[in-house]
Amino acid sequence: MPNPNQKFKKHKSTRTPNTKVSRVIVKKKTSNHKCAVCKKTLHGMPHGKRAFEVKKLSKTQRRPENLLSSILCPECRQIAYQEAVMFKNNLKDEKDLDLRYVKYIKMIMKKIEWLFMGLLKVGSKCTIMQGRNFGKKIVVDSVDEKFVYYKNKDKTEKIGILHVFPLE
Ligand SMILES: [Zn+2]
Repeated sequence: MPNPNQKFKKHKSTRTPNTKVSRVIVKKKTSNHKCAVCKKTLHGMPHGKRAFEVKKLSKTQRRPENLLSSILCPECRQIAYQEAVMFKNNLKDEKDLDLRYVKYIKMIMKKIEWLFMGLLKVGSKCTIMQGRNFGKKIVVDSVDEKFVYYKNKDKTEKIGILHVFPLE
């Protein structure tokens, strides 16, 4: 009698060298990761791996770090970024936006909204949203194009501008 755990799993029969027929369980396969708009295959993603196999990989092997890069391909991402900037500066109405991109444009706007509005100034308070210092409250010392600098016990440390969230 087969193991009750494996009774209903998909199987095939193979012949061993001494002409015996044995029952082998077939491993499940997953499809490739594809772009949500144009269905191209994405680069840098763990293709053909199941959820428990992806868990064992390191953080950088699971998905690329760039914003929306695990959902859209580079060409579609460029269009979404351009439309987000046009919509923010009132060059386009909400009616003129492509319906396939509206969901992703709003995701981009949420992430980089405070960059447009200039909320991150010297002396404003924020919390850290990513990494090992998650939830720590900091006071901004100076702002760059890419980084925010803050003081921690006489040392100045830096953090990416998308990894902090303004409190005020
Ligand atoms: Zn695409």
